[in-house]
Amino acid sequence: MNELIKNIRDKALDFLLPDGFYFSHKGHCTCCDQDVTFQSYNSWLRDSFRCSNCLSVPRERALMLIIELYYPAWRSFDIHESSPSQSGASLKLQNSARNYVPSQYFPDKPFGTMVGDFQNQDLENQTFPDESFDLVVTQDVMEHLYDPGKAFAEIARTLKKGGAHIFTVPLIRRNKPTEIWAVKGEDNNPVFLKTPEWHENPVDPNGSAVTMHWGFDIVDFIREKSGLETTIEYIDNLDYGIRAELIEVVVSQKSV
Ligand SMILES: [Zn+2]
Repeated sequence: MNELIKNIRDKALDFLLPDGFYFSHKGHCTCCDQDVTFQSYNSWLRDSFRCSNCLSVPRERALMLIIELYYPAWRSFDIHESSPSQSGASLKLQNSARNYVPSQYFPDKPFGTMVGDFQNQDLENQTFPDESFDLVVTQDVMEHLYDPGKAFAEIARTLKKGGAHIFTVPLIRRNKPTEIWAVKGEDNNPVFLKTPEWHENPVDPNGSAVTMHWGFDIVDFIREKSGLETTIEYIDNLDYGIRAELIEVVVSQKSV
């Protein structure tokens, strides 16, 4: 090949694919219910392998598939989602569930009241009556709580019998014991016990501190704190665009 053309081609590829990575697969999206192309321009598929139609990511599609498999009647349910996004699985639940209650945490406002489109709720001290919901959904929330045991107990309290908390959380410790990463300091600011870590938070420009590095022993933790029995599901199914690391879906069920 002519050296000049080769040079131009390489520069164009560098511009279009700065990480030198591209992957795509045609399939069906469980968030927007369309036949789509899943595409990633980055090898970290967890955040980058997006639906061409609704831009959902693999953990959201895995969450919706698990909800469909465990609770095919979910559209007729009372569902509480804590800290939802405005797209992907949250949008599908909001648009399709009979009663969808989205909540956010605004510590400076009264709890149990509406703040914009959201109920203001502290997951660790909720104002909902007992047995209010068939499903409680959280997506990458449980690694940001200072007292997750209290939150799991509260979620269990607000679940109807036979209901479930279905959630994603990075189980980054895998088979190693869960580690506490940060504790609550004065003024509600985190005191990190390890290297400080923050994740993006759509309602807080400062982001959310990572407080927990969970392992698979989250199952024992939830049983001890809430009495709920938990199953960890892992899906790898390219035809649903579900392929990435750390996309386990955790299902904690309240017995009938
Ligand atoms: Zn989609």
